[in-house]
Amino acid sequence: MSGDEANPFESLQEQIDDAAAYLDVRDDVIDRLKHPERVLELNLSVDMDDGSLGRFTAFRSEFNGDRGPYKGGIRYHPGVTRDEVKALSGWMVYKCAVVDIPYGGGKGGIVIDPSDYSEAEIERVTRSFAEELRPFIGEDTDIPAPDVNTGQREMNWIKDTYETLENTTEPGVVTGKSLEAGGSEGRVEATGRSTMLTAREAFDYLGKEMDGASVAVQGYGNAGHIAAYLIEDLGANIVAVSDSSGAVYAEDGLDARDVKAYKNETGSVTGYPDADEEFANEGLLTLDVDLLVPAALENAIDGDLAPDVEADVIVEAANGPLTPDADDILTDADVHVFPDILANAGGVTVSYFEWVQNRQRFYWTEERVNEELERHIVSAFDDLTTCYEERDVPNFRTAAYVVAIQRVVDAFSDNGNWP
Ligand code: GLU
Repeated sequence: MSGDEANPFESLQEQIDDAAAYLDVRDDVIDRLKHPERVLELNLSVDMDDGSLGRFTAFRSEFNGDRGPYKGGIRYHPGVTRDEVKALSGWMVYKCAVVDIPYGGGKGGIVIDPSDYSEAEIERVTRSFAEELRPFIGEDTDIPAPDVNTGQREMNWIKDTYETLENTTEPGVVTGKSLEAGGSEGRVEATGRSTMLTAREAFDYLGKEMDGASVAVQGYGNAGHIAAYLIEDLGANIVAVSDSSGAVYAEDGLDARDVKAYKNETGSVTGYPDADEEFANEGLLTLDVDLLVPAALENAIDGDLAPDVEADVIVEAANGPLTPDADDILTDADVHVFPDILANAGGVTVSYFEWVQNRQRFYWTEERVNEELERHIVSAFDDLTTCYEERDVPNFRTAAYVVAIQRVVDAFSDNGNWP
């Protein structure tokens, strides 16, 4: 984060305050919901391939456990900070509450650029982190999952380290594993699928046609590229996509799957031969499109950029891509923003299904996973739009927080406080 960039933890707290204004909840109870219960900060010492010792700062924030075990991913990124991890763990609390799955929220991160290290080094870093996390994690306490730059490989290592040290089999200690290691059908696609379902429901709710709609997707990682091809399958035109190297544009639409195949081969979307034009990442965010899907990192659209946004609808696949300043500007401009804590909740929802399957040792078909996911997302969408209409809140993000905070507060008041 550069000095003048919004601090994601302060953004989270502002989002909670915005919603609290519409809730009849005591200030001291709201204050409790704005701070993590526990944050672990580590410096991992790891042997490097050249014989030197690497030092990696790592965090795990356990934000709130009123509704169930702490739940959330682990991100590997050079820009990871303590406040970023705290914010991401808080967003997990409200995300799990919006889709009504029995979890609290947590998040982890390691300050590392994985592209600078060998696979063996990344494995040792991951296993070292898992060993340090061992006293805190478990299928009933805190359950990690993938996030930016982590996936099945890292989750399998965490599971194996934990099970070896605990001398047990407990695949539900972590989700997002490969199928062979106890993962679920449909988990890889789940985040992009909930983004597509949210976009579909949003267009329907707003009376807009998805067939032929123009769509721009910022970020072409797991969430972005899957959201792109599933939205394309609804008949929309993916006119622009980007990654950290830049954006590609085609007026009549790109082939979302083909762009991904090209990126797999070359390492980036830039240079894609069937594009009409290429421009910097920021140019994508200000395109005049029907739907904009930010699917990269926090703070993609801030108060400076927001006045130039021309999209009609924004569906957030990333966590925290809009700052609170941007939110205010877009609300005033009647741009409809469907928030991250609904639109990317498919990932953690199918993590929940994976955890249920792990505990029952009984595995579902992909069809069943996708049906259950659709049910959760559509029902959460309906709760949110009902709140938007009945409580007269200014936008869908505030509606989502009103619904979510009320659920957490209800669990807290039913559980009672341990003095
Ligand atoms: N990292 C994902 C998220 O931000 C998934 C978390 C999970 O599956 O626990 O929602």
